[in-house]
Amino acid sequence: MSTTFSVTLPSGATWTPTFVAALNEEKCIGCGRCFKVCPRGVLELVGLTEDGERIHVDLDDDDDEDAEYEKKVMTIAHQELCIGCTACAKICPKKCYTHAPAAV
Ligand code: SF4
Ligand code: SF4
Repeated sequence: MSTTFSVTLPSGATWTPTFVAALNEEKCIGCGRCFKVCPRGVLELVGLTEDGERIHVDLDDDDDEDAEYEKKVMTIAHQELCIGCTACAKICPKKCYTHAPAAV
């Protein structure tokens, strides 16, 4: 049987952190704001090609003119590293993120 992961704060209150669960690539504009605030290296910016292929893209790569991809999107590359700070969701202008409690 699994229970929801939660912690007891010094105040005695219970806090249930929520961790990154999904990122809506349809809504994402690839602005990179979430990447910059994530303290854990969870996220990765990729370029989507015409054929739906994913290629690595540098955040500072503004050279979209010659780009081999059609669109830049953020992806969750290392979900297991998330500490549930929710900074990514707070800064995202397109509300792409879904966070959820963890089961233990
Ligand atoms: S919740 Fe925090 S640690 Fe997790 S992906 Fe978002 S910014 Fe990174
Ligand atoms: S902040 Fe939101 S819109 Fe910008 S790259 Fe991250 S998920 Fe996409």
